Amino acid sequence: MMSYPKDDRPCTSCGVGDHHDWMVLCDKCNDCYHRICAEVSGGSKVHGGPWFCKKCKGELTLQGPPDIMQDWPFIDHMWTGYLPKDPAEVDRIKSLALHYRTAD
Ligand SMILES: [Zn+2]
Ligand SMILES: [Zn+2]
Repeated sequence: MMSYPKDDRPCTSCGVGDHHDWMVLCDKCNDCYHRICAEVSGGSKVHGGPWFCKKCKGELTLQGPPDIMQDWPFIDHMWTGYLPKDPAEVDRIKSLALHYRTAD
């Protein structure tokens, strides 16, 4: 998520604690990374929605479909609550969302 760490934790990737205004937090484990380090270190793409570090992205990928980070309808729903009109798609997204919410 594009929220900023509230403390002085250093970037998990490069270990530097500066530029907190350029950091993102992993939406699963809450580790912080510079935006620039976020993707370089193997995390998901920083696109303004939920963001997952390398470790958590790996876990999510293991638990769900391999293309979960590209599943934009699902990611959209997790971020904005948006649901499409197609009932089958709604069921799919809801069951995915349930799965990931209980995966913590
Ligand atoms: Zn960094
Ligand atoms: Zn994480």
